[in-house]
Formats: sequence, C-alpha cells, structure tokens
Amino acid sequence: SEERSLNFIEQIVEEDIANGVNDGRVLTRFPPEPNGYLHIGHAKSIVVNFGIAQQYNGKTNLRFDDTNPVTEDTEYVESIKADIKWLGFTWDKELYASDYFEQLYAFAVKMIEKGLAYVEDATAEEIAAAKGTPTTPGTPTPARSRSVAENLDLFQRMRNGEFKDGEKTLRAKIDLASPNMHMRDPLMYRIKHAHHHRTGDKWCIYPMYDFAHGQSDSIEQITHSLCTLEFIPHRPLYEWFINELEIFPSHQYEFARFNMSYTVMSKRKLKQLVEEKIVAGWDDPRMPTLSGLRRRGYTPSSIRNLCERVGLQKREYMIDFSLLEFCIREELNKSANRVMAVLDPVKLVITNYPADKVEILTAENNPEDESAGSRQLYFSNTLYIEREDFMENPPKKFFRLGPGLVVRLKNAYVIQGESVEKDADGNITTIYATYLPGTKSGEENSNMTVKGTIHWVSAEHAASAEVRLYDRLFTSENPGSEEGDFKTFINPDSLQVIRNAMVEPALLQASPGDRFQFMRKGYFTVDPDSTPEKVVFNRTVTLKDAWAK
Ligand code: ATP
Ligand code: MG
Ligand code: MG
Repeated sequence: SEERSLNFIEQIVEEDIANGVNDGRVLTRFPPEPNGYLHIGHAKSIVVNFGIAQQYNGKTNLRFDDTNPVTEDTEYVESIKADIKWLGFTWDKELYASDYFEQLYAFAVKMIEKGLAYVEDATAEEIAAAKGTPTTPGTPTPARSRSVAENLDLFQRMRNGEFKDGEKTLRAKIDLASPNMHMRDPLMYRIKHAHHHRTGDKWCIYPMYDFAHGQSDSIEQITHSLCTLEFIPHRPLYEWFINELEIFPSHQYEFARFNMSYTVMSKRKLKQLVEEKIVAGWDDPRMPTLSGLRRRGYTPSSIRNLCERVGLQKREYMIDFSLLEFCIREELNKSANRVMAVLDPVKLVITNYPADKVEILTAENNPEDESAGSRQLYFSNTLYIEREDFMENPPKKFFRLGPGLVVRLKNAYVIQGESVEKDADGNITTIYATYLPGTKSGEENSNMTVKGTIHWVSAEHAASAEVRLYDRLFTSENPGSEEGDFKTFINPDSLQVIRNAMVEPALLQASPGDRFQFMRKGYFTVDPDSTPEKVVFNRTVTLKDAWAK
C-alpha cells in the first residue's frame, strides 16, 4: 500500500495513545438514525469510524440514534445492519439510544437539581423570538426563574403525560448572551405522544439530539466521537453537558461531510423520491444509497476505495460522480469476465458459410486474468450484430461494417459486408456478408490486418435479455442547493430499458449480483428481477467516461 501522511484524526488518536489517554483504548461508534437507508455519505462515516478503530486495535459500536419516534422504523434498522455488513465491517456492540431513555431521564433530573435546567412553557416560536440574534442577547422567559422543586414536579408531569405536544419543553440553563446560539438555553426534551418502534408507548417525552448523543457516547465510554463539520457549534454544548453531569469524557472531532455531484444525499430527500415513486425504491440502481449502488453492480471494495481516496478533510468538498465510476471500472477491468451481448440486434447472414453448420469456438474470459479461463462460443451462418456497427454509406473513418468493408468478428472470422434487405419503412432487417476462410485465430490468415473488431452472437443460440441502462438521476450538479424544489432537476432520461437484447446463452445461468463486461458496452450485473427464462442486466458503468471531454 501507498505511504501517506497521517490525517488529522489519526494524529489525534496517536497522540492520545502516546499520552496514555483512556489507557490507549480506542472506541468509536457509527450512530445512524433509523429513518432511511444508508447512502454513500454514510459509507464515508463508516469507513472512517471502523477504519480508525481497526488501525489502532480498537472497536466500533453500532448505535442507533433512535430518539425521534415519528420518523423511525425497524425496516431501516435491518437495512442499515445489512448494508454495514455488506461494506465489510463488523461492529462490536449493537446499541440503541432508546435503551438509555431511563438513564437520560435521570441525567436530566440531575441537571434540574443542579439548577441547570428548567421546564419552559413558551412555544417554539416564542422561544425562537426570545433567543435574540448572534449580535444581540436573548431575553429570559418567565419560566427561567422557576424553582428546582417546581421544575422537578413539572418534568415528572411531562413524563407522566399530563401535557400535550409542544405545551412544555425542558431547557438547559446556560447563557442567553452566548455568541454561540446553541448555548442559549437549548432544548433538552420535548413532548411527543407517539409510538416508538422499540419503546412502544412507554415514553411521551424524548431527548433532543444534543441531550442524547454526547450522553450516549459517554455511557458507552466512546473515546473518539467522529462527526461532520456542522456539529462544530454543538461541541461546546457536548462538553458542557458531560462536564456538568460529571460523566465519562468522550470527545467530539469533526470532518467534512462527503458530497457527490448530480445526486442528493439527505435521507429526507431520498425518501421523497421513493414515496413519490420517482424511483422504484430505496434500492433503485440510480439511488446513491448503498442498496442502490449494490443493485447497480458496485462492489463494497470500490466504495471503500473511493472513501479512502477522498481522505479526511476539514473543508466542504464535492466529489465528482465520475470518481466513483473510475473506482469500479478499475476493479471490474481486472475481475469481470468478458462476454458478448448485442443490445440493439440486427440480423447478419453469412452467405458463403454452410447453413447447417455450427462451429464451437474458444474465447478467453478475461485478458487481464489468465486464471479466469476460457469459454465456448457458438458460431453459425446467422448472427446478431449491433445495428450501429453497420452503415450503408459509411464515412471514411468508419472501421466497422458496410458494403465492401471488412471487419473482424471477435474471436471468429473476418467478414466483408455485401448487401442489405429493408422493410417498408426503409429499416435494415438483414445484412448479408461473406466470411474470409482461414482468418480465425490460429489459422493461416489469422493475422490479416483489419481495422475494426465487432461483437456478435449466433442467432439460433443466443438468449434474449432485458438490459437497463442508467444515467445520472439529476441534471444539476448540486440539485440540493438549487433554488426551489430539487425534484425539478430530475433527469427524465435516467433509465432506458432494452427488452430484447441478445446475449451468449450461458448468461441464462448467471445469478443476481454476478458481474460481466459486455464487450464494448460496459460493465453489467444481473438484477434480482431476473427469472430462469429472462435475465435482467443493469449497466453498472460504461467502459469509458462518457462525460470526459
Ligand atoms: P441525512 O442528512 O442524510 O439524513 P444524517 O446525518 O441525518 O444524514 P445519520 O443517520 O444521523 O444521518 O448519520 C449517521 C452518521 O453518518 C452520522 O455520524 C453522520 O454525521 C454521518 N453522515 C451522514 N451523512 C454523511 C456524509 N454525507 N458524509 C459523511 N458522514 C455522513
Ligand atoms: Mg443525524
Ligand atoms: Mg437527517
């Protein structure tokens, strides 16, 4: 592996280990909220959290940050676990913030007893209005001067369900003049009479992120709590609660979130695409979700590789989608067997080849990998070739087939175009050609120089297949940041379905998830929609970057 210098998190961890902080122990966590499927931005966080732990003999907890009953669901819990495993990581403990609700409640009581928290009567709007601006201090609400006893009583009654949603909140009593707005008496608890996917109806008050995340880290004795840059202004609050509660001092460190062009990366927006049926589901191959990328044919290693290439940064950045494509192309070039598939078939008849003859030819599976072996191809007088590989009036540099033009059929003979047959609309229905005997590999004329090589399948032997070609889901580089609804930037041509492609017959035996290079057409994977009668392929990526200038 390449030598590289330590990134800033590795530097911090190495310093901590050298100084004997936590006896050199490293424990990280990956804290998804189970309100959607994981996307490639989460993969970045997973690679960072699990990677740091692996590097320093540490461990990583999987903690579901399930403090919002309204948006969360066990379906998401299961998909998140499957996706982390698929990416190739194993967590130490599987934990749920909701398992800490009783402990968090006790922490809140302790804060009230210390005079550091109070029950608020004001509405969300009133609280916001009284908060002031970054340059002017906020004004205390009447509730701020409540006694400890009254606060304890009201908080207990909040828990007991005596109030409606929004009627009361619990706030930390910190500093209404702080230049950091997060320190101006932030909310700790809110009332939500909602069913929770794990705790059921036991609770009607739920802790806010800022009064759950750091405390959960501390309960688990997380040493390095890694999160994205937008949490920098929350860090003083994270530390303030831990200090005042006098609990295990976890520390928060921030890195820039992973953004990718031509997609959106917020679960809320991805969920909209699913619910409004703009895509076929969370695992639609156009989605930036891990399940979508998997179905599209991406390997876990290509995604891990991308995350490592990007590294850890302290400033916002945008990764071009083509870098992900580069990673998968590089990998599949080495690992994917080559096969022939004709996506837009037109019949080609070789007039000087016996009509009843079938030859079995041998083709190597992967020129990049000798151990991949070889396979057999059927050759006969009637083939399918790509419609675009024939031109009736070809320009000078057309190195494919046309009347009088010669081209090599991959792994087979050189042929010369002769004539065509057309239907009433002028579309070519059959191409006639002759073959040049002795031009097969290993024969006397096999090294005849021919400018072009095209792929083909034998018509009688080929299997029909459905092929799904994908393009970017959005027409804008950063649809999430555009004015107005991000959905107005949906690419209407992001999916093209070909129902009658012709492929080598052995592909009928392929299983979902198998990956191939369709020669000259790109890398493809077998979709789970496949049946024994019809294979469905998804194009993972083209052979070359179609967008490169
Ligand atoms: P979203 O806005 O997509 O819903 P989130 O941050 O609310 O994302 P969580 O389930 O809370 O989603 O995320 C779990 C972890 O993954 C958090 O630590 C979060 O910081 C991290 N994470 C989420 N998105 C990204 C991203 N684009 N790049 C890096 N880390 C991310
Ligand atoms: Mg979150
Ligand atoms: Mg979110």
